[in-house]
Amino acid sequence: MCHTSARNPDFYRLLLRIDQDFAEQTRSQHCRRCRGVLHSARYRRKPRGLTRQARAECGDFRYSFCCAECRRRTTPFSVRFLGRRVYVAAIMVVVSATRACAGTAAAMHQLDELGVPRATIAQWRRWWQTDFVSTPFWTLGRAAFVPPVETVQAPASLLERFAAALQPDPLLCLLRWLSPLTRSSAMSTVHEGR
Ligand SMILES: [Zn+2]
Repeated sequence: MCHTSARNPDFYRLLLRIDQDFAEQTRSQHCRRCRGVLHSARYRRKPRGLTRQARAECGDFRYSFCCAECRRRTTPFSVRFLGRRVYVAAIMVVVSATRACAGTAAAMHQLDELGVPRATIAQWRRWWQTDFVSTPFWTLGRAAFVPPVETVQAPASLLERFAAALQPDPLLCLLRWLSPLTRSSAMSTVHEGR
């Protein structure tokens, strides 16, 4: 189910549109330090883990802004990129989830096709189990889940909750839910994952 979304170019077109909305909101709020006007200062990104078509829809940049007055950088939330990882967030989540719940043979085969190195997957798993669960975001956010989410199974357990809430696309919901983590101030806990 989630694998289908994560490989579908249309899904990335939608994610780009959501990131566009986040960017417009951020720009309209001006600089948080001095209220100055924000100018576009995008980061170049090479989204890994996608087909050429999906990559074209996803875009190869991260929205970001620079204040015209004090030069402070403001980077909006994103549903496409989680921290400075080279893989897109959707692939990181789906691969981590499949590993977490030891998915079906077909799901495992699809994972192999993505060609994510084992060391990277292990790093992502560690991030979910140590860094993610120690963020203030999770400390506050976990209360929304009743009964509590099994963190050992994250992000599979989180995807299951969004699916159980009859969300039409649990992966999209999870990416949206995680997006506050992608703001620059929250990125100190999101390490480079290669
Ligand atoms: Zn400023």
